[in-house]
Amino acid sequence: MLNTYMTYEDLTKYIEESGRSYDMKLLDQAYELAAKAHDGQMRRSGEPYICHPLNVAKLLVELGMDSQSIAAALLHDVVEDTAVTLEEIKSKFGPDVALLVDGVTKLTKMTFSSLEEQKAENLRKMLLAMSQDVRVMIIKLCDRVHNMRTGDAWPEQKRRDKALETMEVYAPIAHRLGISGIKEELEDRSLRYLDPVGYNEINNLLDTHGAEFLNGIRSDIREHLKENGIEPECIKSRVKSVYGIYRKMYMQRKNFDEIYDIYAVRIILDNVAECYNALGQIHDMYHPLPNRFKDYISTPKPNGYQSLHTTVIGREAIPFEVQIRTNEMDRMAEYGVAAHWKYKAGVSSRDRLDERLAWVRQLLEIQREADDSEELLRDIKSDLLPEEVFAFTPRGDVINLPAGATAIDFAYAIHSAVGNRMIGAKVNNRIVPIDHVISTGEIIEVITGPADKGPSRDWLKIVKTSEAKNKIRNWFKKERREENIAEGRAALDRELRRNMINLTDAKMQEMLAEVARRQRMNSVEEMCAAIGYGGLLLSKIMPKIKEEYTRIREEEAPREAVIPKRVHATDGVIVEGIDNCPIKFAKCCAPLPGDEIVGFITRGFGVSIHKKDCENVKASMANEENRERWVKAYWAPNESKAFRAAVEIEAMDRDGLLSDLLQTLGDMRVPILGMNARPANNSHAVITINVSAANTEHMNNILGRLRKVRDVISVTRS
Ligand code: MN
Repeated sequence: MLNTYMTYEDLTKYIEESGRSYDMKLLDQAYELAAKAHDGQMRRSGEPYICHPLNVAKLLVELGMDSQSIAAALLHDVVEDTAVTLEEIKSKFGPDVALLVDGVTKLTKMTFSSLEEQKAENLRKMLLAMSQDVRVMIIKLCDRVHNMRTGDAWPEQKRRDKALETMEVYAPIAHRLGISGIKEELEDRSLRYLDPVGYNEINNLLDTHGAEFLNGIRSDIREHLKENGIEPECIKSRVKSVYGIYRKMYMQRKNFDEIYDIYAVRIILDNVAECYNALGQIHDMYHPLPNRFKDYISTPKPNGYQSLHTTVIGREAIPFEVQIRTNEMDRMAEYGVAAHWKYKAGVSSRDRLDERLAWVRQLLEIQREADDSEELLRDIKSDLLPEEVFAFTPRGDVINLPAGATAIDFAYAIHSAVGNRMIGAKVNNRIVPIDHVISTGEIIEVITGPADKGPSRDWLKIVKTSEAKNKIRNWFKKERREENIAEGRAALDRELRRNMINLTDAKMQEMLAEVARRQRMNSVEEMCAAIGYGGLLLSKIMPKIKEEYTRIREEEAPREAVIPKRVHATDGVIVEGIDNCPIKFAKCCAPLPGDEIVGFITRGFGVSIHKKDCENVKASMANEENRERWVKAYWAPNESKAFRAAVEIEAMDRDGLLSDLLQTLGDMRVPILGMNARPANNSHAVITINVSAANTEHMNNILGRLRKVRDVISVTRS
C-alpha cells in the first residue's frame, strides 16, 4: 500500500503530465468542497478519507475522461457520507456534475449478494441502463477499483462480498465497456479474495520478472528487425492476467505449462509484406513451437480478425506468443466488430446491448485523443436509451422486460399463477391501473385475488410479451373448455357465413372433422376450443376450410364444371380451356371488341377468332367433323387494348356546357386525348372530343352518358 498519502498536488501534477487541457477552476472548487466535507473522516486503512476520491479522480484522468467526470469523482462520496446536499452541488457545479454524483450515489447504495447467472446478467444490464450517462458507470468502476486496491483493510466477510459483487457485476460491465485494464484489475483483485490459494499459486508461477522478460524480448526483436531493414511502428507486450490464467487452468483444465499465451508480444507494421518478412525474422531469432502458427491474414477469422500468430521459445525457455499485424488490422481487432467482442466474451447473441456498447468502446478510445469529449458522450448517452426496462419485485428481484411492457407482463414474468390471480398493481406503493407501462427502477407489487380468479381475455390486447400472451391463452385453454368451445364455434360460424359456405349439417360436420384432422386435432370440439382461447387463428384455417369446401362442391357439381377453365387473355381475347395460344382475327368477318365471338382451333396456326354470326361459322359448325374444334371465346374486359375514338356532340350553347361534358367523362375515368369546340347555327355548339375506350361496349356506355348531359341534342361517333 501507499506509504505517502495522495494529495491534490499529486493529482494536478498528474493532470499536467497527461497533456490534456482540463477546467482547473472547476476541479479546484470540487476538491475544496470535498476536502472540507470529508475533513476529519478516515478510511479503514488509516488514510484521510479525501485520498479515496483523489485516487478515483486519478484513475479517471488515466482513462482520459473529461473535467466534469473528474469533478464528480472528487465529489462522489460527499452526498452519501457528509452533510453536503445534491442541491448544493447542483448550484455550485451545474446540473451535469450533480447528475453524475447522484448516479454514482445511487449505484453505491445498491449492494448485491451472490447472484444466479441470469440475475447477474439482468443486473449488469439494469445498472448500465439506469446509469443513463455512461460516465456514471465509469466513475463507479474507478471507485470500485480503488476500493478493491485498499480492500485488505476490510473484514474477511466484507472482502468476499465485495469481491463476489465485483466479479459478477462490475468486471463484466468494464468488459462490456471495453475498459480492459480495469476489467482485468477488478478480476484479479476479486480472485485474490475469493480464492487466495489459487491466486497465489498462479502468482508464484508467473515469473515475477515477467515485465523485465518482455522488455528484453521487445528490444531484442526491435534490434533484429532493424538490422534486417524493418522498422515496426510499435511493439506492444502484455502478461496474461492472473484470472485469465486461472480460467484456463481451472475451467479448461489445462496445466500452467500448456498455456502458451501468458506472455505475448505484438508487432505493428506498415504493410502485409513486412508482416510476413517479420514473421521470418522472428522464426529466425526464436524456436517456433510446432502447430502454433496461424495465418489469419490470408484466412481471416469469420469476424474479420486478421493477424499472424506464432508461439516461439527463446533462451529463457519461456514460450511466448508473437502477433504480427498491420496498423489497420490492429485497429480492427481492438475496436472493430461487435462479433469479435462477443466471441471473446462468450456471450450469446441474445440482445443488441452488446452491439450497442461495442462502439462505446470505440468512442472511449477516440475520446482519449479528441478534445470534444462532451459531444461523444452525448452520443453514447443516446445510444444507451434502453430498449429494455428493469423493475424490482418488493423482495428486490430484478425483472427484465421489453420497453413498453405493462404491469400484467410483470406479473406473468414472476409466475403464471401470479398473473392469473392478478387484480391490481402498486408501483412504488401507489395503486396503478394494471396496464401501467413499466419504467426502469420501479418497484412493482402485484395484488392478487382468489386462486380461481383467472385473467381477462382483454389482457391479450394489452400485454407486450409473448410469454404473458401464452400464459393467458394457456389458462383459457385449460380452465374454460366449454366456454372456449362455444366461443370458438360462434366465431367459426360467423366466418363460414361471411364466406357463404353452406352445407347440410351432416356435410358440414364431415367437412370440419376433416379440417380438424388436418390440423392434428382430435375432434371438431377441440378445434373450436382452440379457436376460442386463441391458440388457433381463424385466418389460418379458413383457407383450408375453403379448399375443402371447393372440393366437396366439385364432387357434387356436374363433371363439366370440374374441368378447370384456364383463362388467359391473348391479344385481348380469352379462349376457354386454352392458355396463351396464338390468336388471329378471321378476315371474313373481322371481329371488333364488343362483338360476340367464337374461336376455331386451326391446324398449327393457333385459334382464329370469328364473329359468332359470321356466315362461315354457321357453315362450319354444321359440319360434324369440325364441331369439336369450335371453342368459346370472348373479349377480356380489362385486358383488351384501348382504342381511340372521336365523339361528336351537338348541344345548346350555354355556360358550363363544356365543363359538364368533361365532368361526365372524368366520372367515368375516360382518358381525353384531345378536344375541339365550335359554335354552330341556332346558338348550337358542336364539340368533338377524342377519347380512349376499352371496347365497343365501353364506347356505347360513354355515348349514352354524354347524351344524358343537359342541353345535349345528339352524340355520335365520328
Ligand atoms: Mn467511493
